Amino acid sequence: MHGSGKKASVKALGCRLNQYEALAMEGKLKAAGYEIVSYGEDADLGVINSCTVTNEADAKSRNAIRRFIRKNPEAMTVVVGCYSQMAANRIAMIDGVDYVIGNHDKLNFLDYLADDKPVSPVIVRERISREDFSIGFVGDPDFEQRANLKIQDGCDFMCSFCVIPFARGRARSRDWEDLFEEVGQMIRKGVREFILTGVNLGTYESKGNDFLALVEALADLQGVDRLRISSIEPTTIPEELFDMMADPGHSLMPYLHIPMQSCCDRTLAGMKRKYGMKEMTDFFDRATQAIPQLCLGTDLMVGFPGETESEFEETCDRFLELPFAYCHVFTFSERAGTPAAKMDKQLQMEEKRLRSARLRRLSAAKRMSFHEKQLGQVFRVLLENPKDEFYSGYTDHYVRVVVPQSITGLENRMALVKMEKSTPEFIEGRLLSYEGSDEGLVFP
Ligand code: SF4
Repeated sequence: MHGSGKKASVKALGCRLNQYEALAMEGKLKAAGYEIVSYGEDADLGVINSCTVTNEADAKSRNAIRRFIRKNPEAMTVVVGCYSQMAANRIAMIDGVDYVIGNHDKLNFLDYLADDKPVSPVIVRERISREDFSIGFVGDPDFEQRANLKIQDGCDFMCSFCVIPFARGRARSRDWEDLFEEVGQMIRKGVREFILTGVNLGTYESKGNDFLALVEALADLQGVDRLRISSIEPTTIPEELFDMMADPGHSLMPYLHIPMQSCCDRTLAGMKRKYGMKEMTDFFDRATQAIPQLCLGTDLMVGFPGETESEFEETCDRFLELPFAYCHVFTFSERAGTPAAKMDKQLQMEEKRLRSARLRRLSAAKRMSFHEKQLGQVFRVLLENPKDEFYSGYTDHYVRVVVPQSITGLENRMALVKMEKSTPEFIEGRLLSYEGSDEGLVFP
């Protein structure tokens, strides 16, 4: 076998999709006889699943590559993923890189590797197809209680600042049967929470089944205790989901992370986003009325070319007014090949840094007040592996909770926890009951 007696490590940068794919790559390496070691340990083969969403992501990818090579100069170094897709030649110039493989072939990287390091770097960058894709479950990935589930890839929306349609290709969906084959195996491996992951997952469509049909089919599956939508584009959310999210007995969690990117109509127009603030404000009203427990999160970008001080203020004010519990803040960076990179009125880095810091402070304050509103209430939490004598886990509406480990062996059980002390990052809770306890999961 290619890897027998050899060690391999896989490092993923960036998004949930990259994390999921890294796990699939570990499964393939195990099936090929490799022992998986954590990144940073001695290894015979290193795979870096790179990211290129911002200039900073490029730099982080290069650092991760160089760190592996410094630690393992004799090892085989394979760089795959989005940065490989967009800057293959640049990566190939990094001393010690052996293979640079784009997104079309990244999951089949093993097929390209020779037994010995090639004399010069090998670049594989095929055109990314638009067909439905299958992943095929191989090896024995180590799933946690909560696991990402890749359902879709690529995007057709072509927002003016975004490099993803170029790096990951046009929108395509995972084959229906292939997807359910993997879910079945994940359930057998003890996964309880499935996090739907993709680039533009609301555009899922396979064999006549759209995103709503997929959610309904997954939610009906025995063993899918929780179904969570990771991040979903504003204009792709079927409102039929509201009833499912509002029903405490339904496995679809009352959580929506909707990347708005800005809350100013003029900036949204420049970004070529497909909605305006009036439309989204009405949507949030309907969602919060229909789903009392709903937690809403968003992504906001600062420093888009031409974004004036007052337009930035408008985004801050609207973020505070709208029912968001938090926002992830991104700083605009020119991505080669995107329309926004050629726009004039590019902002100074210092100005972007100040705006980013301001919005992060506002987000921390909003998350803290959201946490404070939960105090005294009792929520269901899926307990994860304990650390430092604390269990941690998420409520149905995606609040991170930590609970003292008063009883051992409760990981991967649902528990009822009373919310007692809030911090900007999590809430400290008190364990009331848990699956398998005498009381069982009965709300007090
Ligand atoms: S929806 Fe826009 S921002 Fe999101 S991946 Fe597609 S092009 Fe990029």
